[in-house]
Amino acid sequence: MFDLPSLRLGRLFGIPLEVNLSWLIIFGLLSFSLAFGVFPGAVDGLSVAAYLGLAAVTALMFFVSIVLHELAHSLVARAGGVHVDRITLFMLGGVSQMDEEPHTAGREFVMAFAGPAMSFVLGIASFVLAAIAQFAGAPAYVVFPLSYLGSVNILVGIFNLLPGFPLDGGRVLRAILWGITHDLNRATLWAARTGQFIGWSMVALTVAGVAVGGAEAVPLIWFGLIGWFIASLAGQAYRQQIVKQQLSHVRVGSVMTPHPQTAPGDITLEQLAHDYFLGGRHSRYPVMFDGHVIGLITLPDVKAVPRERWPFVRVAEVTERDLQRMTVDSSASLDVTVDRLGSDRPGALLVVEAGRLIGIVTRADVIAASRRVPV
Ligand SMILES: [Zn+2]
Repeated sequence: MFDLPSLRLGRLFGIPLEVNLSWLIIFGLLSFSLAFGVFPGAVDGLSVAAYLGLAAVTALMFFVSIVLHELAHSLVARAGGVHVDRITLFMLGGVSQMDEEPHTAGREFVMAFAGPAMSFVLGIASFVLAAIAQFAGAPAYVVFPLSYLGSVNILVGIFNLLPGFPLDGGRVLRAILWGITHDLNRATLWAARTGQFIGWSMVALTVAGVAVGGAEAVPLIWFGLIGWFIASLAGQAYRQQIVKQQLSHVRVGSVMTPHPQTAPGDITLEQLAHDYFLGGRHSRYPVMFDGHVIGLITLPDVKAVPRERWPFVRVAEVTERDLQRMTVDSSASLDVTVDRLGSDRPGALLVVEAGRLIGIVTRADVIAASRRVPV
């Protein structure tokens, strides 16, 4: 279900915004239930087409609110030096994808709280607008959707503050426990456990509701689905944390591939494709220039250049050069490294010792190392 492709809509403050196609399902369901279930009871005398149009606009405004909620998390994260990959809307809400955890408890607290705070602000603003509209004598089809947006935003804020990971409230709880105990691992384990409890409780409530309420309770299924999703993410976070704890005792230098084959920066992409990607067995190469490593080149980097230009473009020109993001010290522990390898790019880190390239570590190396860890 979540393997559906995502469409990139653009950037907000430089952060890519994507919509997963699964989102269309919830957009359709919400519009449908607003048009036929909610609005006819509150706004009189519109045509079916008008109810549908009003419902679609309201549902869209709701998802804009969700994007703003995620944007609040992302901007606070970025201000704290955490790289935000993208914001994605999908069937069960929105998510800000980051490739590392916040560095301090205080920062995590502010970052986690920023989203619900934004939802509360949006909720109150919608209620104020609804009140102004009503005072000015605006019709019900303006006032009611505004107050509806007010309620759902407040609900989103409250729901997200439930104290279980991966909900925002779980992150707030983790930040508090982290601050008190100075033990991030233990704080994460606790927050993940309460997350599992909250998620499974939602599933249980849904099952009970459907058993008692029959067809009336069918909309609850979505709530149960979110519960199941929370429980599975929390369970995953719990297991990951256990593995991470073990990996904190393993050094990058002991799992890397030493003496990696490098590619010269002054050859053309044509030569690189032919001699390295076709002839070799690796999917990425550290690039050397003037005796120094300057970055990493991958097959997608090469493919991003039109085929007919390959004989004229030098490797160094398209090499990903953000060395700070791409290198790791051989003495670093694997639990830190696993976060940095989590995002799609670069998918591998250059291992350096005293500034000299001594190896390369890929996600596959870390996964292999974590498989050796007893859970
Ligand atoms: Zn949030």
